Amino acid sequence: HELEALLEQNSTKSAQEDEQWDRHDFSWSNELEDKMKSVFKIQELRPMQLQTMNVTMSNKDCMLIMPTGGGKSLCFHLPALLSKGVTLVVSPLVSLMEDQIMALVKLNVAAEMLNASTSKDTVNRVQDEMVSHNAPLKLLYVTPEKLAKSKRFMAKLEKMYQLGRFSRLVIDEVHCCSQWGHDFRPDYKFLGIMKRQFPEVPILGLTATATSKVLEDVKKILNIPNCYVFKASFNRPNLYYEVREKSGVQAEAMDEIHKLIKNQFPNQSGIVYCFSKKEADDVTADLRRRGIKAGCYHADLMAVERSRVHQAWLADKIHVVVATVAFGMGIDKPDVRFVIHNSLSKSMENLYQESGRAGRDDKKSHCILFYRLQDVFKQSSMVFTEQTGLENLYGIVAYCIDTNRCRRSVIASHFGEVWDKAHCNGMCDHCDPAKQKSTQTKDITKYCQDVLTVLDHSKRQDQRLTANKLIESWMQKGPVNMRVKGVEAPSSNILTLERIMAYMLIRGYIKEDFHFTPYSTISYLVPGPKAKLLSMGMENVSMDFISSSSQTNGDSQVAVKKSLATTSAENQPKPKLVVINNEKSAFSEMKFA
Ligand code: ADP
Ligand code: MG
Ligand code: ZN
Repeated sequence: HELEALLEQNSTKSAQEDEQWDRHDFSWSNELEDKMKSVFKIQELRPMQLQTMNVTMSNKDCMLIMPTGGGKSLCFHLPALLSKGVTLVVSPLVSLMEDQIMALVKLNVAAEMLNASTSKDTVNRVQDEMVSHNAPLKLLYVTPEKLAKSKRFMAKLEKMYQLGRFSRLVIDEVHCCSQWGHDFRPDYKFLGIMKRQFPEVPILGLTATATSKVLEDVKKILNIPNCYVFKASFNRPNLYYEVREKSGVQAEAMDEIHKLIKNQFPNQSGIVYCFSKKEADDVTADLRRRGIKAGCYHADLMAVERSRVHQAWLADKIHVVVATVAFGMGIDKPDVRFVIHNSLSKSMENLYQESGRAGRDDKKSHCILFYRLQDVFKQSSMVFTEQTGLENLYGIVAYCIDTNRCRRSVIASHFGEVWDKAHCNGMCDHCDPAKQKSTQTKDITKYCQDVLTVLDHSKRQDQRLTANKLIESWMQKGPVNMRVKGVEAPSSNILTLERIMAYMLIRGYIKEDFHFTPYSTISYLVPGPKAKLLSMGMENVSMDFISSSSQTNGDSQVAVKKSLATTSAENQPKPKLVVINNEKSAFSEMKFA
């Protein structure tokens, strides 16, 4: 309830902000418009940019949540030019800073950075500029480590502050402050002292990822409980979202990816995300063998090799980067036509960020995830040690096995937005008129009960079952002692059974039980917290089967597709944070529903 109250406060404040902060009659408004066009060659601002800049120019603290590629940097680049003195920018990655500084220098904006490997001469020169009144320096980028570890630098900052030259503190990827976020960086915690040390300096935090929990945490850590919060919509209208069944046979799965790239995206730029470095190596080799210009990118490759691949891709010398999530922050190629996930991501958040690298130029682009149950367990045995690892993973599994809901609406609800599926414009596989299919709901309670019976039986035999083994026993295949009298072999195909399994998992009818071997972690399945409800007959489960399909695109999608639903009444609507689009301004405001 405390959180609700907090959110409510925010919502009222945000509503006023929209009216108040998108005005054009501030003392800096003319110069802002002028420099936007002359220096940055930008004709029109995007939603939330003007509000953010006006707030920070008014020396107030602000948090901007905007999807990757939305244009957060301009919100401090431009104010930096309008302000006297220096804007300090804290950024988590040296490569991100290098990219931005290169771009700024091209625009004749004086920008510098200091990090662990900056030469002594540069450090001296930059630190002199910080405190000299006629130095041109406008933007100074530092790593959080530099702030936390260098007393000399902090001393210079204090001097700069006393001289009235510390105009603004910008914290890029501000979610790194919070342990609840996905890229927690301990040194970001140090930023908590900045408000106390420099009370007059407005703080601007930027991120693409902030659930309300992370947002509240970040505000607390930074000591800016009353900061303004702006949130831009997460909808990317030009991205087509799709999930496809992945073949269980490696060679067939590769056939399909190859065919897809060759036929639908010939000579176009794209990314294929893989679960592991080994998978990335294998997929790269396979695509190359088949004549696709592909490069590989992951953390085990030397920095020069990674940079070579990135540059070759930017220059269109190679078309496809096959990568792990190490290929991430700061990737800003405008004409990425497709992002393929060869294995599912570890969360909806990750999927959104990774697939969001497509279509920065606003042209139609495709985000295709290849899903197979076995990939869930590869991920789960990695993420189960993280605080909300499994919860996040099951969120994306729910997205994958859903066959009805608009993909956009699932993504939107993940980001606390309300989404009207009519606005999808057929840009997802469930809304696309070319892929319309009708579904039929069937009761699968008996199936689910049988699965639990098989699990009970294996427990009595002192045997642990992985998902594969469980399905095998259920189908009355495999070792005879694992087959259960009274459990009939289901007539459905393996994909259906896998879907039932995934559904039981995310609904808590079964759960994963992890065991360590010297070489790996194995996920076994055991009855979950809600198993009792099923075996006692207190809950019914039903599932939608596709009864007809009018697929016209000739791809090799598996014909039998199912979607899942439950008939139980325990689907209580939870209160959620909602972003309501204001049509007139296309800005959004936060409301509590
Ligand atoms: P992020 O929100 O991920 O930090 P960036 O600030 O890197 O995004 O911006 C992504 C791209 O969008 C950059 O190429 C930038 O020049 C461009 N951009 C930002 N604002 C605008 C705008 N108002 N109009 C056109 N392009 C813009
Ligand atoms: Mg950015
Ligand atoms: Zn849709």
